[in-house]
Amino acid sequence: MQGLTMTTAIATAAAPSYAFAPTLPPAIEIAGTHECFPVHRVYCVGRNYAARALEMGANPAREQPFFFSKPAGALVRNGQPVRYPSRTANFHHEIELVVAIGRGGRNISSQEALKHVYGYAVGNDLTRRDLLFLAQDKRQPWEVSKAFDVSAPITAIHRASRVGHPSQGRIWLGVNGVIRQSADIADLIWNVPEIIAEISALFTLTAGDLIFTGTPAGVGPVEAGDRMEGGIEGLGTLVTTIVAA
Ligand code: MN
Repeated sequence: MQGLTMTTAIATAAAPSYAFAPTLPPAIEIAGTHECFPVHRVYCVGRNYAARALEMGANPAREQPFFFSKPAGALVRNGQPVRYPSRTANFHHEIELVVAIGRGGRNISSQEALKHVYGYAVGNDLTRRDLLFLAQDKRQPWEVSKAFDVSAPITAIHRASRVGHPSQGRIWLGVNGVIRQSADIADLIWNVPEIIAEISALFTLTAGDLIFTGTPAGVGPVEAGDRMEGGIEGLGTLVTTIVAA
């Protein structure tokens, strides 16, 4: 048994004998291949479109970005249903551009950042809005409002080698065919290279990390039976139906 090292909090034994089968990382489909993307961490950026910041009554200026995270196990494949979560009466959609990291690093410069990107996807940062408001009021952490089970539907990942690095294009989400969110990813307050630079100054980015980059204005509640469809130009669409708890 090794002790703590500089780089790993808990050293892994060469051939561990686990007491029970460890959970494998979630595997997200990679469009156009038979391979899957093994997910490590899921980072999320808060308040990253000016119109959404105004909607929240916050300053739309370029304040320091802030981050939270969801467990990788919260990811939901495109087309899979999501059950209405417990302990909320105000369950919201947040359509977002997702960045998939293919090469890790620390203190990555924004100039170098795109070299670390494997690809892009469309994600939905599902939120217990009532519990988020409560947490903000009481200065409590965001886990129960953001990091709950099945809180992160996501499409297949589109490789940057195929789709490039989209810096503009429509992002939208509709509920039962009625558009709720419609914006352009060019309106991100902090763009993808800047987000990668900032996160990698705070955490060691690792191949397999995902970054949900923030949602535009128009978030709102969904109920059991609702069908959400959202997309980003060039990255396809994400369809998620809410089922009763
Ligand atoms: Mn969000």
